[in-house]
Amino acid sequence: MSEMNPMNSRSAENLALHIKLANEAYAGHLDELECPGCRKPAVSVWFTNPAEDFYRTWFLCTACKFHTRAQNTEKPPFFSEGRRRADLEELDSDIIKKAIFKQPRDKDTRANCDEKTKLLQCRLNSQQ
Ligand SMILES: [Zn+2]
Repeated sequence: MSEMNPMNSRSAENLALHIKLANEAYAGHLDELECPGCRKPAVSVWFTNPAEDFYRTWFLCTACKFHTRAQNTEKPPFFSEGRRRADLEELDSDIIKKAIFKQPRDKDTRANCDEKTKLLQCRLNSQQ
């Protein structure tokens, strides 16, 4: 017996919309994007740079509670100070702090990594 699971098709559709949002941001379309939550063209793109070499792209809907973020491995092409959100950045720096303490990258260079962590901590603290 095959049965359509409405949850699965809905999340597949959601994923497609998320990918679309990411592509739009990458193409420089930063406002009035279609919201995966309410389907209104009400999503705006914002950026954060909570620490050196950490960039995130946020998608916030003004019509509903939808929000999501993407982690960037490099500076987003349309990153600008005018699109940077200090309130979101604070959330991101919390997340980064937690992530760093949870996952030391390489056991062999643990001491080295700890030093880097401390450095990053200092930078984060001095930014606040
Ligand atoms: Zn929405």
